[in-house]
Amino acid sequence: MVHDVAIIGAGIIGTALARELTRYRLKVAVIEKHPDVSMGATKANSAIVHGGYAEGHDTLKGRLCIAGRRRFRELEDELHFGFTETGSLLVSMEDDLEPLERLQRRGIENGLTDLSIIGREEIMKLEPNISEEVKNALFCKGAGICSPYGMAIAMAENAVENGAELFLSAEVKGIEMENGIFTLSTDRGDFQARFVVNCAGVMSDRVAKMAGADGFEILPRSGEYLLFAKGTGKMLEHVVFQLPTAMGKGVLVTPTIHGNLLIGPDATDVEDREDTSTHKDRLQNVYNQAKKLYPDIKGESFLRSFTGIRARSSTGDFVIGPSRIRGFINAAGIQSPGLTASPAIASLLVSILGDEGLNLEPEVSFNPFRKPQELARKDLPYREVDRLSRLPVGSRERIVCRCERVTEGEIADSMDRGIEVTTVDGIKRRTRAAMGWCQGTFCRERIAAAMEDLTGKLPDGSYDIERSGVSRIEKNDFLDFLKAQKED
Ligand SMILES: Cc1cc2nc3c(=O)[nH]c(=O)nc-3n(C[C@H](O)[C@H](O)[C@H](O)COP(=O)(O)OP(=O)(O)OC[C@H]3O[C@@H](n4cnc5c(N)ncnc54)[C@H](O)[C@@H]3O)c2cc1C
Repeated sequence: MVHDVAIIGAGIIGTALARELTRYRLKVAVIEKHPDVSMGATKANSAIVHGGYAEGHDTLKGRLCIAGRRRFRELEDELHFGFTETGSLLVSMEDDLEPLERLQRRGIENGLTDLSIIGREEIMKLEPNISEEVKNALFCKGAGICSPYGMAIAMAENAVENGAELFLSAEVKGIEMENGIFTLSTDRGDFQARFVVNCAGVMSDRVAKMAGADGFEILPRSGEYLLFAKGTGKMLEHVVFQLPTAMGKGVLVTPTIHGNLLIGPDATDVEDREDTSTHKDRLQNVYNQAKKLYPDIKGESFLRSFTGIRARSSTGDFVIGPSRIRGFINAAGIQSPGLTASPAIASLLVSILGDEGLNLEPEVSFNPFRKPQELARKDLPYREVDRLSRLPVGSRERIVCRCERVTEGEIADSMDRGIEVTTVDGIKRRTRAAMGWCQGTFCRERIAAAMEDLTGKLPDGSYDIERSGVSRIEKNDFLDFLKAQKED
């Protein structure tokens, strides 16, 4: 079959584009090298829906950030992935207001109407636990937080429900074009399409080269994070940033959509684009920077560390547009604020495809709504949790993950939404099983057993962090560091 559009990469850009294209009568294929969607930068970032003042109106980043942010409320109502407008504070420890005023002016140029500069008294009302050193802040009322992987999963599920085809575990290894038809060779055979959109994230320059559509490079830059136990996010209500530097937006402190405290990222240029290991010295630095903003952060509630790799482009901006190969469109170098901008990037790509000759006839049966995920009661007393966790495999009420109170029914529901889920990690991102205090010690095998019971197949273990070869600083390493720091 010749598809109208083949999208390479199922991160937030590829999945948002797929959904947007299903508004039209088109055959759309999404081709992803990993066994699930959202396995690149989209699963490992700060999850902030940025205000839209950090980049200027003369850049795509600046223009598309605010345009994307404006779409989040409606998208959340349609897709239920998790989004809330917490507001953000960009804080300064100086009396000098100039850096904040400069960003405020830029925000106003970008079209923002919810920015104000506030002093110590107002900051304390919004954030009573913040450091006494903080003097002024740029407050953006409509900024927020979301579940980035939840959003990509929701986009993909809705796209598939509306007719897009998703091909997982299919790495594109070669691209040929003949007589206006592209042939993409992958591990799962060849795919043909009239148009190709390169949404391959940190690999987007290499994918562009395969088609002869290069002209930019990806200069990967990693960022490491510390995530703390559920409930710790109550320490603050807003996203709190520091003034940006040449390396990026700096270490931020934020609650996550699920109530954890998240701090990070730092910024280091790296050679290996896929190495998501974490490092003690870098995490110490992140921790110490965050403590300057929130002295009460308790290292003991550390849960886990992770790394995201920014697809920084050599052009300094997003690379979005037609290439010199007719029909091959780049959506590359989508670093921050790419998550926020993603709904606007998807719309821009559709209009570029239309300009390039794609026939955009509306699909009247397009359904923008996705059924909310099944959610079991989370406030059960421990005795009941204990009883339900002893039920035999195969019972929908059976609690599989005690920390997050995830039932087999929720797992079954997450596996019955049009995308084949073949890894424990995939269940984790959809239901939060294994994301709690024990980090899967109790439930990992139980999730696998439930998946086997539901599908007759054991999940692919190679994606479990313990077996993936990724080296991460674990709880004990971090506690050792805290002890040493206290002794110094
Ligand atoms: C540390 C960090 C913090 C960030 N914080 C924020 C934030 O707070 N707010 C915000 O708005 N943005 C943020 N961003 C940016 C945001 O995460 C990205 O812009 C966004 O996730 C990019 O999505 P993507 O789809 O382009 O890339 P990805 O999510 O990386 O997806 C690319 C996909 O392409 C696939 N792929 C690659 N090569 C091939 C191939 N040959 N064949 C098939 N598939 C292939 C990959 O497996 C991957 O799934 C942050 C990014 C980082 C790294």
